[in-house]
Amino acid sequence: MISRKKTVSVDVGGCKVGGDAPIVVQSMTNTDTEDAESTAKQVAELAQAGSELVRITVNTREAAATVPVIFEKLDKMNVKVPVIGDFHFNGHLLLKKYPECAKLLAKYRINPGNVGFGRKHDDNFRQMIEVAVENNKPVRIGVNWGSLDQALLAKMMDDNGKLAEPKTADEVLMDAMVESAITSAELAENYGLGRDKIILSAKVSNVQSLIKVYRDLSKRSDYPLHLGLTEAGMGSKGIVASSAALSILLQEGIGDTIRVSLTPRPGGERTEEVLVSQQILQSLGIRNFLPAVTACPGCGRTTSTLFQELAEQIQNYLNQQMKEWREVYKGVEALRVAVMGCVVNGPGESKHADIGISLPGTGEEPRAPVYVDGKLFTTLQGADIAINFMSIVNDYVDSHFNESSKNRTVEEFLV
Ligand code: SF4
Repeated sequence: MISRKKTVSVDVGGCKVGGDAPIVVQSMTNTDTEDAESTAKQVAELAQAGSELVRITVNTREAAATVPVIFEKLDKMNVKVPVIGDFHFNGHLLLKKYPECAKLLAKYRINPGNVGFGRKHDDNFRQMIEVAVENNKPVRIGVNWGSLDQALLAKMMDDNGKLAEPKTADEVLMDAMVESAITSAELAENYGLGRDKIILSAKVSNVQSLIKVYRDLSKRSDYPLHLGLTEAGMGSKGIVASSAALSILLQEGIGDTIRVSLTPRPGGERTEEVLVSQQILQSLGIRNFLPAVTACPGCGRTTSTLFQELAEQIQNYLNQQMKEWREVYKGVEALRVAVMGCVVNGPGESKHADIGISLPGTGEEPRAPVYVDGKLFTTLQGADIAINFMSIVNDYVDSHFNESSKNRTVEEFLV
């Protein structure tokens, strides 16, 4: 059981982050915000995939002016997900000049490294905080090592140089990330923003550095923390690096909301980042989102493609059904299904699942025993193994997760 560090609870448009709330999955669009149609569509897709908060960039006057149009479109689609605005360089101007945009967004992300220099830095930052206070909105103070406050970094490097035993430049950089987040949060509080209106992040793209920065951040404050490995990259590299970094921190009880920053392949699905976040939380046993399918990797004992096809069909079927099941069957996301390739580990693994099937390996009799709640339930054979198995899964869900038929066994249900 993971013991989460207690943080302040922040309300982001009705979605609680921190405190006792479950760890929140969030994502960000990659559409042009000025294009209301495609942005609203992608926000809806991300929300439907399970993103509980969605961030859009608000980078130009036109983008800020388009925010109300995006909200209208979301309203027409009955999409209620809180939408966050990501501001850099000109956020103070946009938030002031486009009050409707400031009013509609559920939270503002402010990067203290991108709000100007010297006195302008403080003035611009103050203006954004004032808009947040006026609109009763929370703010994420999102530091990024690609845009760290250079004045702060230079000062810390100078101070470090005067020490008898100076730290390395990398260590000072990490310290500066934490310092920038904490001092900006304190400044925001001085400008009138409530403590329950602040979330912090300090993102880097190196796994070990990220772990160090967040451990320090967590020690130094009780603001809720937004975790994410910035610029994680493409495909398996991005997924593995994000999973490695986030899992270590989450296991230590650090983190209240997560985002996985994957670079989609051209034409790839933006929703992948949501699914990866969900898988990280589910794999750690923190939250369940989708029924888990345990499938063996297959080996020389599975020379036909039957096993891969069945595993894929069942995974797709569960994903498809979940859109409806989620509404009707409470707790169904905790369902565990096993699809195994042969008799070596098939029966054993199937018995550990709620419902499992052990397919015949090469040279085995063409029969597939199905186990339900650890006991042999039936043996399937013939061309319709997949359909019959899915029907058993369906019946299991209805008999175990439907309040009105909760006490019925699958056998009773099928009679
Ligand atoms: S269960 Fe059978 S098919 Fe699957 S990996 Fe193990 S030995 Fe190979």
